[in-house]
Order: sequence, then C-alpha cells, then structure tokens
Amino acid sequence: MLEVKDLHVSIHGKTILDGLSLAVKPGEVAAIMGPNGSGKSTLSYVIAGKPGYEVTSGEVLLDGENLLDLPADERARKGVFLAFQYPIEIPGVATMTFLKASLNAQRRGRGEADLTTPEFMRRVREASQRLKVDQEMLRRPLNVGFSGGEKKRIEILQMTLLNPRFAVLDETDSGLDIDALRIVSEGVNALRDPTRGFLVITHYQRLLDHIKPDVVHVMAKGRIVASGGPELALELEKNGYRDYAVEAA
Ligand code: ADP
Ligand code: MG
Ligand code: MG
Repeated sequence: MLEVKDLHVSIHGKTILDGLSLAVKPGEVAAIMGPNGSGKSTLSYVIAGKPGYEVTSGEVLLDGENLLDLPADERARKGVFLAFQYPIEIPGVATMTFLKASLNAQRRGRGEADLTTPEFMRRVREASQRLKVDQEMLRRPLNVGFSGGEKKRIEILQMTLLNPRFAVLDETDSGLDIDALRIVSEGVNALRDPTRGFLVITHYQRLLDHIKPDVVHVMAKGRIVASGGPELALELEKNGYRDYAVEAA
C-alpha cells in the first residue's frame, strides 16, 4: 500500500535521505529502528508532506498514487496520519475544538457533511474512555502544559477519531511511562486491521513489546540497511547498531 522508492531528500543542500526504499503492505505494522540522526523523522515528515524538505528524486506511493504531488492536507484526506515526535502546542485552541476541526476538515475534503455535535461528542467520549484521556484535559488548550504521556494520548485519540488508512508514529514511545506506553500501544493495536498500514518509528525495542511488528527495518545514514522479523529488534537491543557500520549519535 505504501511504497517508498529510491527517495533522496535534502535540507539546505545537505543530503538526509539517500536512496531510501521501503514497502508496507495492507495490514502490516512495519517498525523502523535506527540511531539518532539517521533520518527517521525526516522520512515521516516527507510522507506527511511537511514543507521545507527538498525531494531530489524518488517516489512515495500510497495505493499507487504519488503522495509527493499532493499538499499535506490532501494527503491527510487520503488517510495519511502522522503522530509527531514533538507534538505541537496551540495556546488559543481547546483540545476538543482542535479534534473536531481536524475530523470535520477530513470529512469536508471527502465531500461528507460535518458531524453533528452530539455524534462528535459520542465518538470522543467513547474513544477517550478507552484511551484513558480525562474529559477535563479536552477543555484545555491543545498540548499546553500537557505531560509527554498526555500529549501522546491525545495524538492516539486524534488518530482513533480520524481512522487513518496509513499511520506513521514517530517515536510515540519517547517520554512515556509504562502505563502510558501500554495505553498508547493498546490504542494502536485496536486500530490494527487487514486494510490499514502502520509505520512505527522507534529508537528502542520497548515499544515493540507492546506493538508487535510484522517487519523490522533498520535505518542508517538515510537508507534502509537491514530488514527482518521482530527478532531483529531484539538483536538490535542487545548489540546496538555496530553490525551496521554506524555509531549511535
Ligand atoms: P532521526 O529522526 O533519525 O533522529 P532526523 O530525521 O531528525 O533523524 O535528522 C536526520 C538528519 O537531518 C540529522 O543530521 C539532522 O541534524 C538533520 N536535520 C533534520 N532536520 C533538519 C533541519 N530542519 N535543518 C537542518 N538539518 C536537519
Ligand atoms: Mg532523533
Ligand atoms: Mg526523530
């Protein structure tokens, strides 16, 4: 469903992704592990369409369509979701308002009517109970003063509401304690199904104890240097990245 072909990306003339190729099948959870600075976040931003990255060659196809030709909002409409490594804060906007706006933007883009307020509230209540998100938190400005774990829960709540076709989670585990990690993982696992794909980017094996990947890719210096099953993550945890001729930053 997602195919990245020989992707080259640079920032300010510096090559960050250097011939990266990767395919994720429907229903698959693919993990990407790799040392700091290997380009993992850059890959997620390029898939989601964040401006500022220069794609010098290559393709990113979703169901055969080149995402690189589309603006970020159109990619979101097609069901691409990115959970950021560093979620943004929006001081003037209540979390609930943000969630409603993002859901209705997606619906409008698809030619669907906005959800009625009661229907929206029903969905939010159901999902936030499952993800143990306090209703009171939803009245506060988006991410302002939220702990790392609270921010990640809100992202998983947003993901659940948007019901994406392809989701990229960039270091969703960073800053999470064990309870938050479990809740976030359960949120992801609840969305696993044969039509949806996930790219789970992580620095540590820990998250993959909870979200069992089908495939593990190792990224170094802007490309995939090894691929294998879940056992590859365990091996990396033990030996680090030394077998891949890179030093962790
Ligand atoms: P990872 O997520 O694997 O830690 P990143 O994609 O964040 O890696 O970064 C890859 C490389 O690109 C790093 O050397 C980083 O310094 C560089 N880089 C990322 N974003 C920018 C930017 N906006 N400007 C300049 N260099 C950047
Ligand atoms: Mg990093
Ligand atoms: Mg990163």
